[in-house]
Order: sequence, then structure tokens, then C-alpha cells
Amino acid sequence: MRILFLAVPKSIATGAVKPPLFKSPPITFVWLSAFLKQARHEPEILDGYSLGLTEEQIFTRIAIANPDMVGFTSFTCEFSDIMYLIRRLRNRFPRIRIIVGGYHANSLPRDFFCDAIDYVLSGEAEQTLPRLLTRLEQGGGELSDIAGLHHRHPESGTWISNPTGHYIPNFNHTPLLPYEMVANNGYTPWWTSMDARTEKYMATVTGKGCPMTCSFCDISKTEGARYRAMDAERTVRELAHLHHDFGITHVEIRDPYFTIDLKRVAAIAQMLIDRNIRLNWGFSSTIHRIKDLELLRLLRRAGCGFIFFGVESGNRAILKREKKVTPEQVIDVVRMTRKAGIFAHCGFILGLEGETEESIRETIDLAINCRPDAANFTIAVPYPGTELFQSFKEKNYLKTFDWKEYRQDNPVFETEHLNREQLIYWLEQSHRQFFFRPAYLIDRLWHIRSWRQFKVHARIGISMFFKTLSYKS
Ligand code: SF4
Repeated sequence: MRILFLAVPKSIATGAVKPPLFKSPPITFVWLSAFLKQARHEPEILDGYSLGLTEEQIFTRIAIANPDMVGFTSFTCEFSDIMYLIRRLRNRFPRIRIIVGGYHANSLPRDFFCDAIDYVLSGEAEQTLPRLLTRLEQGGGELSDIAGLHHRHPESGTWISNPTGHYIPNFNHTPLLPYEMVANNGYTPWWTSMDARTEKYMATVTGKGCPMTCSFCDISKTEGARYRAMDAERTVRELAHLHHDFGITHVEIRDPYFTIDLKRVAAIAQMLIDRNIRLNWGFSSTIHRIKDLELLRLLRRAGCGFIFFGVESGNRAILKREKKVTPEQVIDVVRMTRKAGIFAHCGFILGLEGETEESIRETIDLAINCRPDAANFTIAVPYPGTELFQSFKEKNYLKTFDWKEYRQDNPVFETEHLNREQLIYWLEQSHRQFFFRPAYLIDRLWHIRSWRQFKVHARIGISMFFKTLSYKS
């Protein structure tokens, strides 16, 4: 069966589509396509988001591809854009079946129960989506054994929800991912500049699930509380595949918790060195998994170029609750990472439970004092399905349930300590105080090695400047 996965362009509902500053591969679709191809289906990916495609361009591409089904993934803030495009698609191509999965479909599947949609899929789709397509190819019929599927009763039309199934225990038997489906879309990494004439960037996945319980994240519910991954040998085979078969030079490993098994991480690094696989790669980690400079130096020798640390807060109590570390550990780990020659990027969230103006000041102070190569500051988003959503809802903090407002630069809540204006003020202040200070600008200039790098930094700097100004309006 032919399925076309469609990444929805930002703001398509308002007609103001424009491509993002950094183009990021829709790796979830590539990942699912590997399982679909294995089951002899014919997936295709249309990355309307990164390519900034208009509605007409999308419909022209769909008419050419002529799929049996179009599949969407759903992030909460994209809800309006997804629903807009689904309705338009339904009118234009009534024959094509439509399915929605992803985070919002996991948390609030009922939001998608409407006439324009045929199926909603909760839980892991690796096994259930191929099974559904095979069943439909054979003429449909009984769908009650397809775990996590929401579908309409053939006669009454009422929605029926099947219970979700089991998680796949590990991914060693995952087929090599079909990167050729998106490899020529000109993706660009956010952590380093790259010469597009000779270098190429791609993301990959080697594991899913997370045992941490950060209040703002629902990964442990959607992917399970256990990190399930390919072993080191299989992971290196995937990286070699990217490098040798697609000429990829920069790779982002997009696992939620890549560093949970440090022996595996070290084994991957050693194999990359031993097999002379020369990649610039990186991943996300919590601070508390990084313990020694030796491992960081081994990673650097293996080509690791960046680590993103979700630090979240500079307030001792919030940091302890969310990430189980202290501000001193943050400073120590970021220092070690940079000492090993790895780009350290720290993420901070303003407005988590218990936040005050004083604790935001502590967060900005920690961001400056831990001296990362880059930082980003966002407003907490209480996504449905998270502990934060539940708590803010119970306390009556939430000011809207319009999902398109659930963005990282837009407060959708007010607490007894912080109102909307204060949160926006501190978001602007955090960027201003971190980025626009002489010590940071000199540090960045010191690390620039070429005119090309200078141009990329200048572009990011200008975009950051205007973004900071825009918080006022
Ligand atoms: S934010 Fe990261 S560490 Fe925390 S639960 Fe989510 S995936 Fe796990």
C-alpha cells in the first residue's frame, strides 16, 4: 500500500508559510518508513515543513504520488495547521485515507475524532501501522486487534478505541533507515556551520523511551519509562550506513536519553575510532549522566562535536526536582565538555512549577556562570499528557486550551508568582543578558575559524536580535 507522510508547513492555516532557519529532517517518518518497507509497503515522505511548501505545491506533489493514505504526526502547537490541511486534503482528494499519530494523538486522540480523518494511532506505530496497511490492502474488515488504533464503526460511524500494545524491547533488528527518502532536502544542523558544497547533515534514532520524569515532558508515557536501544554494534552500523552510503558528515542522534548506558556510549565511540568512521556527531543528555573527562575525550576523538544539555533551571529546588542535579554539577559538566573540545549547548525553561522572578534570575545567572557555547531559553509549555499540564489545570493556571497558543515563546498560564507579561519580560531578558554581553561575543568570535562560519554566526545573531525585540510586541 502507498502511504505518503506529510510534514505540515508552519502557519499554513494563515497562508504565511516560510521555511525555518534551520532545516531539520523528519526522522520519525524515516524511522517508520523502515518498518513499512520491511512489510513491503511503499512509503514516501513530503517534508512540507522544511521546504516551506505552499498548499498548492503540496497538492500537486500528492496528485503525482497518488498515495492510498496520507499520514500526519501531531505536535500540540501544530494542531490548527494540521487540521486545516487535513480538511483541505479531504475535500480535494476524497479517495485518500487519512491517519494521524504522534504526541498529541497519544495524549488527546479524541481531538482528532472527526469526519475528515479515518484513523488515529496512539502508542508505538512500528508494528501497528504496517499491520493496519496490510489489513486494508486485504480489504479491511476486523480492526479490533490493531493495538492503539482509533477507528470508526463501519455502520454506526462512532469512534472505537483499541487498547495500546507492548513496546518493542530493543531495536537491534530494525532495518537500516531509508535516508534516501529525504537525503536531498538540504538539511542544516543548528550546532555548527557546515559547507553545503562538501558536507551533509542528517538526524538518526538509535533508541526510544526515558526513565526520567521531567514534569514538562511526556516521553516516559508515550515511549515508555525504559530506554530501549540498538546495541553498540548495530548503532555503529547505522552511522557507517549514513556516512558511506549517503556521504553524511554531520549526524544528530535524536534519542531522548542516549547517555543512559555509558558503557554502550563508550563502545560506540571506540568502534567509530577503530573503523575510521569520520563523522561530526552529537546528542542530548542530562547533566547527571556525564561523569568524567575521560569519556568526553574519547567521544571527542570519535568525532562527537556537540552535546545538548537540558538543564532547565538555575534554582536549586527546581533543578533537583526536574533533573536530580545541583547548579555546581551543571557548571562542572559544562566546563568538562568544553575542555574536551565538545560544543556544549544548554537549554533552560522559564515558568516551571514553583518559578518566581527570583528563581528566573538564578537561572540566568547559572546560564552565564556555566559558560556554555550556546544556550536557549523558552517558556514552559504545559503540553497535554504531562504532569505540568495536570498540575496547572488543577490549580486553574491555564488561560487557554487553544493548542496553537502552546508555543515555547508564548505563556499560556499565569501563576500566583508570575503573570504573562512578567514571563515575556524575563524571556526577553534571558536572551538579552546571555547573548548580548561582551564576554560571550568575544568567546564566539574567538571560535570562528572561517568567513563561512562568520556569516552563519552573523545570520544567527541578527535573527536572535530581532527575535529578542519581538518578545516586546
Ligand atoms: S526531558 Fe529528556 S530527560 Fe526529561 S523525561 Fe523528557 S526525554 Fe527524559
